[in-house]
Amino acid sequence: MRFLSLLALATTLAAAPLSRPYTVEHYDVHLTPDLAAQRIAGEVTIRFRSQIDLLGAVELDAGSLEISSVLENQRTPYFEHSGGRLIIDLATPAHQQEVRTLTIRYVARAAKGLVFYPDQIYTSFFTHDWLPSNDRPDDRATLRLVIDPPPHTKVAASGRFDGTAWLVESATPPFLFAFALGDFAESTIRVDGVTLRTLGKANVSAPTADVLRFFAERTGHAYSGATYTQVFAHGKVEQEAVGLTLLPESYAETLATHPEDLWLLAHELAHQWYAVGIQCKDWSDFWLNEGLATFLADAFLEHRYGKARYEQEIQRSRALYEAQAAQGKDRPLSYPDWQDSDQVGGAIPYHKGAWFLAELRRQLTDEVFWAGLRLYTKDHWNTPVTSNDFERSMDTAAHKDLSKLFQRWVF
Ligand SMILES: [Zn+2]
Repeated sequence: MRFLSLLALATTLAAAPLSRPYTVEHYDVHLTPDLAAQRIAGEVTIRFRSQIDLLGAVELDAGSLEISSVLENQRTPYFEHSGGRLIIDLATPAHQQEVRTLTIRYVARAAKGLVFYPDQIYTSFFTHDWLPSNDRPDDRATLRLVIDPPPHTKVAASGRFDGTAWLVESATPPFLFAFALGDFAESTIRVDGVTLRTLGKANVSAPTADVLRFFAERTGHAYSGATYTQVFAHGKVEQEAVGLTLLPESYAETLATHPEDLWLLAHELAHQWYAVGIQCKDWSDFWLNEGLATFLADAFLEHRYGKARYEQEIQRSRALYEAQAAQGKDRPLSYPDWQDSDQVGGAIPYHKGAWFLAELRRQLTDEVFWAGLRLYTKDHWNTPVTSNDFERSMDTAAHKDLSKLFQRWVF
């Protein structure tokens, strides 16, 4: 995703919240959207595993969802919903490693993470606005999502569609769960074994295929899904999800007249490698998603349009970062002091991240830098990562200790 406004960062020394003492293994979700009423009726069964002995309650993120009922084994436990948190008392405490399920019925209405138009509904980043969930990237889970589409609408969602449900089959941070539905035009083509699906009026198959090939070659890892869907929706959405990207329809119009304006298309597609394929372990290392996606989009533009275009994009990132630093808002790329997902965006992970990667590339040489990226990608596919993992891959490729450089930029 791309944050459009720079968020003011709280100057706090407090550490990030502690992990919740359970892990969700699976969300089984059924959504019934109502376009006319601008609401979604939802039901989720959450299967979770206790990480402690005597887990007495479960805290979930639930935004401003209206919670209609909670069931544990056909009984209604005591629950409380305030300040965006849903706390459910378990009937009896769960033992360490014990697996339990909770079923929650709820109603979702328009919120930051759930956008309604008369002919479209889509989600964006804040999964707790449409699904009661542990909405932190350190709690990765699988998803089965059934959506009853309103008449005359097309649907796209995270993961693989099996004819009934959308399935995210490897454990994934909930912010990468998403869906869009609406009265969209649809087109598909197949490129190198991948179906490129487009919802909305856009002619992006050829450049998307070009980006897909470039990233597969540079990262050493082919696109991992069977389908990649881009949805061009109303509004300003720019959001990656598993096998899916939501983009503004105004961007499709821009591309029709300025076909070289491929940065955003490439940035979002890069997240299929760095966000979906390799996931930052928690918000502290969000730059590993956003810095890499920003830098790789710049590298794609270099590949397609030449060195001058790359330099122009990198200098833009540098300027945006230096403007932040001039306001006293610099911080290390690795940022363990976040309190809330609202604090993790802004120019630092995106633009300081991209500029650092360009500097690393310049200092290590092309050959070593890309070898390091391929090593990082191969060794960490489908696993959560930290900045240390990235540094180790680069150390190995460079045959030297890069800790001084990483201390200056990252830690
Ligand atoms: Zn992004």
